[in-house]
Amino acid sequence: MTVFTIAALLLTCSAASTPAANPIFDHVIVISVDGLRPDAIDGPEDGALPGFTRLLHGPHTMQARSDADCTVTLPNHVSMVTSRPVGGPSGHGWTENADPPAARNGGTLCKNHGAYVTSMFDVAHDHGLKTAIVATKNKFALLSQSFDENEGAPDQDGDDDGKDKVDLFCTAGTSRMARDVATGWFAAHPKRSLLFLHFAAPDVAGHGFGWDMTSGSRYRAAVREVDGELTALAAMIDADPALRGHVAIVLTADHGGGVPLRTHSDCKASENFIVPLLIWLGADTAPAELVALNSDRRAVLPASEYVGNDTIPRPIRNAEVGNVAMQLLGLPAIPGSVANAKQDLQLIAPAATKGAP
Ligand SMILES: [Zn+2]
Repeated sequence: MTVFTIAALLLTCSAASTPAANPIFDHVIVISVDGLRPDAIDGPEDGALPGFTRLLHGPHTMQARSDADCTVTLPNHVSMVTSRPVGGPSGHGWTENADPPAARNGGTLCKNHGAYVTSMFDVAHDHGLKTAIVATKNKFALLSQSFDENEGAPDQDGDDDGKDKVDLFCTAGTSRMARDVATGWFAAHPKRSLLFLHFAAPDVAGHGFGWDMTSGSRYRAAVREVDGELTALAAMIDADPALRGHVAIVLTADHGGGVPLRTHSDCKASENFIVPLLIWLGADTAPAELVALNSDRRAVLPASEYVGNDTIPRPIRNAEVGNVAMQLLGLPAIPGSVANAKQDLQLIAPAATKGAP
C-alpha cells in the first residue's frame, strides 16, 4: 500500500437470470456523491451541470435506492463495495457511521462480522488490476483497514497479487484534491484498474444549510462543485487516447437528504432513500432508463413507495454498483454478494447488444 502526504494535513494518503451481455472495459471508476438527491441533477438547473449531464448519456435511473434499513454514509458505502445489504443474514453488518476504531480494536469488516467480507477490490486485485480509493471523509479508513496487507484475504485467483487489496488509499480535503489524486493515479496506471472516488461536498452543505433545492442554495452550489470535477475527469479521459473508450463510470449516492431538512436519518422517507444511478459506457450514448431496461428482473415501484430489503423482485439499489463494476470489467461477481449477484443488470437493450463496444 502506498503511503504519502500532500499539503500538510489537508490531504493524507495511505496505500493502503443469465448474465446480461454488457460491454467490457479496461477501467471502471465508481463515484459516490455523498448526499446527492436525484432532483439536484434532474431539475431546472440540470443544463448548468455539464459533468452530470454528460454521464446521463447512457443507462441511468433517478429512482435507485439506498439500503432499506439505513440511509447513512458508511454502511451504504460498505454496501456499494461489497454488494451486500447492511443487515440481515447476508448483510455486511457494519452499522456505525463514525470514524472506525483502529483495526486492532475491531475496526475491520471481518472483525465486526465474524467472517471475511469480500469486496470489489478483492476481486479486481486478485485478477491483477490496480485498485484505489480516493475519499473525502476520514471514516473511509474502514475500507483501508479491512483490506490491507494485515487484514486482506489471500489471493483467490491466478498469480499471487498479495493480500493488500487497495493499492492506493487516500483521504483528500477537498473535491478538487480528490479529483487531482484520481487523475494523477490514472496517469500512473495505464493498464487495467478499479477506482472508487467519493465526493462529500453535497452532504456537508446539506448538514450545514439543509437539503435546500432552491436555485442558488449552498446545497446546489456543492453539487455544482462536484460537477466541475466530473467535467475535468471526463476531459482527462477524452484527452488520452489510451483511456478514451476504455473507461466506464458508475455514479451513485449513499443517500439523499432533507428529512428532516438538515439530515437524512429517516430511512423510510423517499427524499432520503431515493438516489441516482448513472452508468457511462465510455462514450456519450443514448440515455436509457435503467429501471425500464430491467423491468423483467427488478421491481418497478413509485419513488415514494418504501420496500424492505427482502422484497422480491428487488428494486435497483446503490449496493448493486460493486457487481456492476465487476460486470463492466468482465470479472466474476463478488463472493458472498447479494445485490446484482447474478450480474444480470442490463445496461443496454438486448436488441442493441450486437455490435456494442
Ligand atoms: Zn450525511
